[in-house]
Amino acid sequence: MRKFALNPHRRKFVPGLFLLVVLLVLNACSSDNSNAPSTSVNPFAPTDGSFNHNLGPGASAHDFLASDTYTQLVVEIQYMDGYKPTPDAVSQLKTFLGNRLNKPSGISFIYTQIAPGGKSTYTLDDIAKMEENNRTEFTDGRKLAAYFLFLDGGYTDDTDKSKVLGVTYRNTSVAIFEKTIQSLTDQPTEPQRYVLEATVYEHEFGHVLGLVNNGSPMQTDHEDASHPHHCDNSNCLMNWQVESGGVVGNLFGTNPIPTLDQNCLDDLKANGGK
Ligand SMILES: [Zn+2]
Ligand SMILES: [Zn+2]
Repeated sequence: MRKFALNPHRRKFVPGLFLLVVLLVLNACSSDNSNAPSTSVNPFAPTDGSFNHNLGPGASAHDFLASDTYTQLVVEIQYMDGYKPTPDAVSQLKTFLGNRLNKPSGISFIYTQIAPGGKSTYTLDDIAKMEENNRTEFTDGRKLAAYFLFLDGGYTDDTDKSKVLGVTYRNTSVAIFEKTIQSLTDQPTEPQRYVLEATVYEHEFGHVLGLVNNGSPMQTDHEDASHPHHCDNSNCLMNWQVESGGVVGNLFGTNPIPTLDQNCLDDLKANGGK
C-alpha cells in the first residue's frame, strides 16, 4: 500500500519489468539441473575416497543441511573485475544459509578477484574450466566448501527475450551471470540490485540444497510438473511462475526477496536442515 501511494509511477512499471525478470529466472532454472558439464577431465572427482566435488546439483544436499559429517561451511566467491556481488546480497545469502543449515562451527565467505573471462557469453564447459583453474577451497575434514563464480558475461543460451541469471552446475558449484544482473538493476524503475542478486543467489543455493525433489526428498508432493526441480507454489523462492500476484510487488516492497514456502522448508528439515 505504502509503496503504491508513494510511487505510482514505479508501480506502473513493475509488471512488465517483473515479467522480464521472471523469464530470466525461469530460464536460469531451465538448465541448472540438467547435468554436470561434460568435461573430459574431472580434477574434482577424487580416487582416494575423499569428498567428490564433481557430482550433480543436489547430490550433497544432506552434507550442506546437516552437521553429522560437516560442521562448517566455507563459500568461496570468485569474481571478475567489476562484477563482485554487493555486500548486502551476500549478507542476505549468509542469513538464508544460517537459517537453514546446521553448521555449528560457522558459515564464512572468502573473496578472490580472478582474471576476466573476456567472453560475451559462456558455456557450461567454459565455466567448469574456469572453476578448475581458479578454485582453491575444497571440502576437507569437517569443513564443507561451496564455490560461487561471478561472471563478466552472459550464458550461451541467452536470447533477446530471456537471459540466464544463474546456474547450479555441480553439487557444490554455482555460476552467477553478474553482468546480466547488473544490466537489469541499473535504473530507478528496476529492482534494487541486491534484491535481484540475493533472489538469484538464494534460489541457486536452494538447488544445491536439493530443491525441489532433487536431493532433498519431498515430504509433500510439490514439484511443478511442468518445470522439474521447482516448487508449485507461485510465491515460493523455488518457483518460476512468479509472473502473477504478490511476488511482483514484493521485489519492490520492504521485504522483497522471496522466501521458501512450508513445503520447501519441510523438505530441508527432513534432510537434516533447520
Ligand atoms: Zn531453478
Ligand atoms: Zn517451495
